[in-house]
Order: sequence, then structure tokens, then C-alpha cells
Amino acid sequence: MEQEERPRIQSIRGTRDILPPESEKWLWLEGKFRAVLSRFGYSEIRTPIFEHTELFQKGTGGSTDIVLKEMYTFQDKSGRSLTLRPEGTPSVARSVLEHGLLKRTKILKFYYFGPMFRYGRPQAGRFRQFDQVGAELLGDVTVEGDAESIHLHVMLLKELGLSAFTVKINSVGCPNCRPYYSRLIQDRLKESLDGLCDDCKVRFDRNPLRILDCKVDDCKKLVEKVPSILGSLCEECLHRFEALKERLESIGIDFEVDPGLVRGLDYYTKTAFEIHHHMLGAQSALGGGGRYDALMELYGGPHTPAVGFAAGLDRILLAVEKEKIEVPIPSGTDVYVVAVSDKARQKCFEVAALLRETIRAELDLAQRSLQAQMKAANSLAASFCVIIGEEELASGVFTVKNMKSGEQAKVSETELRSRLERELRP
Ligand SMILES: [Zn+2]
Ligand SMILES: [Zn+2]
Repeated sequence: MEQEERPRIQSIRGTRDILPPESEKWLWLEGKFRAVLSRFGYSEIRTPIFEHTELFQKGTGGSTDIVLKEMYTFQDKSGRSLTLRPEGTPSVARSVLEHGLLKRTKILKFYYFGPMFRYGRPQAGRFRQFDQVGAELLGDVTVEGDAESIHLHVMLLKELGLSAFTVKINSVGCPNCRPYYSRLIQDRLKESLDGLCDDCKVRFDRNPLRILDCKVDDCKKLVEKVPSILGSLCEECLHRFEALKERLESIGIDFEVDPGLVRGLDYYTKTAFEIHHHMLGAQSALGGGGRYDALMELYGGPHTPAVGFAAGLDRILLAVEKEKIEVPIPSGTDVYVVAVSDKARQKCFEVAALLRETIRAELDLAQRSLQAQMKAANSLAASFCVIIGEEELASGVFTVKNMKSGEQAKVSETELRSRLERELRP
């Protein structure tokens, strides 16, 4: 075979093609996830992959790394500033407000699948175009809602057979108690302000809580001087956090309390959580989320309590590989229609067309020899071959070969499809 030339135009750094049979894994994962989401009563919402830039500046937060450094923002031909979505929640919130969906019902449960875009440094399991699944529970104020969101995320992973992961939970406080904690952070760190990284110097004024999330070693060391947020929670936040732990325990979900967990987004209040996999090294978070009671108001909507999460599909599939979970890859076809001679090709085409009304069927489109066709049938893992030669053309009775047992049977054209249907779906 001739060597294919490498094209001069290649895919963009941080993006990649998902080719068969790899794409079968994605179908498998999506199918499993949709089944779980449906058991929890969530329906799919499909929003555009680009939005007005303002949506993310306001929602995701002007002081977050995502908005400051990682957005794909561009002007369209009429000069509007648009952004490829870096995350899904702001679009869901916008859509709910735009269509007045919470005027008709108290509770909404939405999930989404799709690509997100962030201009970060590409590394293992991290792409500039990456796929997420997300689930949002809107209008719900209860602690059961928080626990349901965490339970749902855990169930998605369990449905795939994953088990080597840990649920981490925290409370990031509310507008009543967080300002107090932010001042506490500033108090403890103001002496060592020079020791913080440049990003944290900005965070110090704009959003001190996010200093706790910094990955720079110097900052990590300084943060040790800051007491846990759990000691600064107001009564309401503390009560919710205790109740959340009880709910999770009551349905057998193991968790760890991690006071340093603050999430990279500005809109979280009270409950925050992440799920980490044990075999993925530094990039171990499979997904995370929390409560975002203030987001809808930021967009000019009514006060709307809400909780949700997003999980990265690329990294989840990496975890599936690490845990050596076998993904069932379907065979290439069920029936291969084989032409013994060129004269039979026309008939093979008709027979394949007839079978394809209900059965997966393939035939030779490359004028190959009988032997090469049998080889092709084998490599597609076909269960049966229908063999058509001169004799079969004359009699209208075809040879059907069971590829596993090697047994052959004579089957008339009129009975062929129903016979194969029976054999394939016993
Ligand atoms: Zn509070
Ligand atoms: Zn820092």
C-alpha cells in the first residue's frame, strides 16, 4: 500500500481527532451516563458552544484564571465580542432565564454533553478542546439537592465500573460569612504578601479565597498559616455542612473533608465538592461542582438556589484505562455477503440492501478475490457469511456459513433475512 502523505494542514495544538475504535468508547460512556442521568430525572439541554463574552466575565468570574487567561475570545464580523464556552453552567443559567423556565416549574434538572474550550497548557488528559458532562439542579434549596448532585456524580463513575476515586467536600461559605473569612486570610497573609506569586497578589485584593487553591509551592507554604474556613462558617452554613455529611453517610457515600477545596470559579456558595482518581497523578480531578445560589442574580434574574457539577470525559476515559476496565467494542458487522465471481456482485449488492433493512451487513466494494473477501469478513468479526456464486445465482438458494462453527446451510433468498434475524437474536 502507498504511504499516505502527511497533510500540511494539521489539527490545532490541544485538539485531537477521536478515531474508531476509540470513538466506540465515547459512545459506550455516553450511553451509560445517559442511562444514569435519566434514572435521576435529568433531561438534556443543548446550548450553543459560543456566547457573548460578558456571560462568562460575569458568571465564571472576572478574577478567575479561566476568564483572565484561558478564554478563546474573538470579534465576529459585526464587531461583537464572542467566546467559545470554557464551561457549561453559565449557558444553562442564561438559557433558563431567557426562556423563563422557572416561572412554570419550581425545580429544573438539566444535563449537557459537549466540547468546552480553554487556552491552557496541553498535557496528559488535558486538551484545549475537551469534553464535559454536566448536571444542574435549579430551584432547589435543600441539602438533599447537594447530596443528590454528589450521589449522581459518583453513580456516573460507578456505572462505568470505576472504584479508585475519592469524594472531597467542603463549604466555601455564603455572603454572610465569607467576607469575614476573606478578611481573615488577608490578615494572616498581609505580612508575607511579597512571598505570594503574582496571581495571588491580584487575588489578595479581589478574591483572597482563591489563594487557597494556588498550585505554586511558595503560596502553598504560606497558606498553611491560614486557619480552616470551617471555623469561620456562619450557623446556617455550618448546619448545612453537617447535614450534608449525614445525608452522604445515610446512602453509603464515603467522603473526605478538604478545607482547602475552593474550586476555580467565583459563583460557588456553601457546598463545594470534587472527585479525584487515585491513578492519574497530578491531574487527578475527574469532576467537581457545588452550590451556586447567587449566579442567576448576577445575570439579573430572580434569586434562584442551584447546585450542579461538571466532569471531564477525557480524564474519566483515562481512569477507565488505568483501572483496566474492558470497554465492549462491537464487531464490525454481523453478516458479510461474499461474491464468488464477478457475475454475482450485482446479486450481492441486492442481498446486502435487503439484509440492511434490519441487520448489520457488509459486502465487498473493492473488487477483491473470494479469499480476500473471506479475510475481510473475519477481520470485521462477522458472525455469518452469505456466499453467492454461479450455482446460487441459478438456484436462488444461497450458502450461509456460520463463521464460528464453520457449519454451512442452504437457505432460499426469500427466507434469508428472517433466518439470519433468528440466528443473530436468539
Ligand atoms: Zn454562611
Ligand atoms: Zn499563588
